[in-house]
Amino acid sequence: MEPMNTLRKYIYLFYSEWGSSLWIISFALSLIFSACTNEDKSQNKTQRPNVIFIMSDDHTSQAVSAYGGRLSKISPTSNIDRLADEGMLFKNCFVTNSICTPSRAAIMTGKYAHKNGVYKFTALDQTQPTLPKVMQADGYQTAFVGKYHLHSNPVGLDYFSILPGQGDYHNPEFIEKGNEHLSGWVQQGEKIQYEGHSSDIIATKALDFLENEISDDQPFMLFCHFKAPHDTWDYAARYEDFLADVEIPEPDNLFDDYEGRSDALKTQLQFIGSKWGDHTNFEEQTADLKGKAKREKQYQLYMKKYLRCVRGVDDNVGRILDYLDESGLAENTIVMYTGDQGFYLGEHGLYDKRFMYEEGLRMPFLVRWPGEVEQGSTSDGMILNVDFAPTILEAVGLPALEGTQGKSFVPLLSGDIPTDWRTSMYYRYYYSHFETEPHFGIRTYDHKLIYYDKIDQWEFYDLNKDRAEMINQYNNPAHQRIVSDLKEELSSLQIDLEDDPKDDGSNPNIGVLTARPLFQTLDVSLGLQDISVLMKFRTKVGGTLFSKCRIGDIPWSVDFELNGIKTLFLREGDLIFNDGWDDDTELRIAQNMADGQLHTVAMIVDNGVVNFYVDGKLKLTGTKLLSEDNAKHTFNIGAGIDFTGYQGYNFIGEISSCLVYNKSLNEKEVREFNKGSISSDKQILNWQN
Ligand code: CA
Repeated sequence: MEPMNTLRKYIYLFYSEWGSSLWIISFALSLIFSACTNEDKSQNKTQRPNVIFIMSDDHTSQAVSAYGGRLSKISPTSNIDRLADEGMLFKNCFVTNSICTPSRAAIMTGKYAHKNGVYKFTALDQTQPTLPKVMQADGYQTAFVGKYHLHSNPVGLDYFSILPGQGDYHNPEFIEKGNEHLSGWVQQGEKIQYEGHSSDIIATKALDFLENEISDDQPFMLFCHFKAPHDTWDYAARYEDFLADVEIPEPDNLFDDYEGRSDALKTQLQFIGSKWGDHTNFEEQTADLKGKAKREKQYQLYMKKYLRCVRGVDDNVGRILDYLDESGLAENTIVMYTGDQGFYLGEHGLYDKRFMYEEGLRMPFLVRWPGEVEQGSTSDGMILNVDFAPTILEAVGLPALEGTQGKSFVPLLSGDIPTDWRTSMYYRYYYSHFETEPHFGIRTYDHKLIYYDKIDQWEFYDLNKDRAEMINQYNNPAHQRIVSDLKEELSSLQIDLEDDPKDDGSNPNIGVLTARPLFQTLDVSLGLQDISVLMKFRTKVGGTLFSKCRIGDIPWSVDFELNGIKTLFLREGDLIFNDGWDDDTELRIAQNMADGQLHTVAMIVDNGVVNFYVDGKLKLTGTKLLSEDNAKHTFNIGAGIDFTGYQGYNFIGEISSCLVYNKSLNEKEVREFNKGSISSDKQILNWQN
């Protein structure tokens, strides 16, 4: 194989010395050599390095045995640990906003939420520079398999096969390149179902890319993102017996009573046992228990499911690493492993993420780069998820993304920490769900200061003496000097990063997929009272006709629970009304409506009964349909909730009119609207496009 390496190098030099006008010769030469290519892909090492970025959803460092800790013996991750044995483990890798979509957006853009627009679960604006886009533009073959969760159609990828939204654990559907939906919302794309467990399928897709799709003349960047171990923690059947007879060690603060801490910990709903009911049967299994015994049992149930999912990920990481060894690709491939944030495994009595405490803040991060990173090395250097993109780009010889706020930590890979490296980091979480108060704060090597801005409460921890963050020392006079210094540093980080403390993410107005209504008003109160809404439209695709919600909000927030969503939309030709946010609350009014013809729809609420007319004919009658309304929520024409696109993407087509009356129209009046004439008595909205 050696001669081929030399010749390929020659092609590369030839190409770069003489420019692209010689591409035909290069192409012809590479065709000759690719004909000689077989299973041994080690010739690849003369190119710039390949990159495989493996990320598992909610996989926290306490459940990676290379980090040690109470679970490392009973639940070893021996395959992931190989990356630490053969590369470097970072002890202080932190997330800038501990929740899935925002962390993924930060990784792709190298920017904080307030700069990339993804504060909560909004779609990533793909017009901004992203890691895959610039790598693809510079000659990398880019691929993505697994959980994407950025909501907008992927850009900058030569190949992708991704889960829609959260995706399913068992027999999941995937959306593949070429099947994107015109609306721009990834979740609307055409789906293909695969049999098996998501972790196995995602690894198989990664292997399929490596075995069959990689180009002989381009280096590649592969993102392999596992859905596991995100809740609902559904593991593959073969792990049923794993840990079955093992008592999982508890963290010392499983029964944290939150004494001395802010109200944020006392009012949150992500403590063990709080919201299990939605997606586990833990509540049923512990129905006969109370108090401490109940939490102990629920902790065991939770951890076993979580760790079985982790085992599935680890085994599949092993399959990928084995293939890299067998194929010879390992030598010239940088492999990174991380989780999209930290996660609580019972610490502070919590599960899930969001809070800035250590277990939620810290991400596992391991990197193997043969020849460049010393085997078995570790770094205490403080690195962040916004650093990943600049680091990968420097490693492959590219400049940082435009507007990036992260720093390349390539200099740390030698084992040194440069003297000018950061000694503090800025964190900010924006409210979404589980009643976790928004907060921002600063962590240094020794201390942490957290500010819950909506309730104006502070917490301060001395990490050297109180690693578990049990004693809030904010009011301790002995620490007033350091607290005041940290406040100053926190402000200067906000200034440097251009984050306005008042920008709470409630009005993300970034990007093509931010829901942009054709018209918006607060005048329409759509609840149980008599009302009539009439609309005229034409489409070949679909989208939202109207929505009654605050744009940018998310469906499981308190506001939605109180007020419902109320969306009228077309999906795959079906005209649907939904007063909630999932399939259960959907009412299908009519079919085949995306035919490019002009249609009318009328929604008449009369004494709590709702009638839907399509093209003047009664199609559906419902009772107890509408929840109470809150007039604070806006009525949007042509745009829905800015979430997954599931029922929220902007209308693609023409909405020509929308009339609203605060009375119930009769059938005759609906037919008049259909014909084009209608009285204006009690009309509260007459919108013509
Ligand atoms: Ca996550």
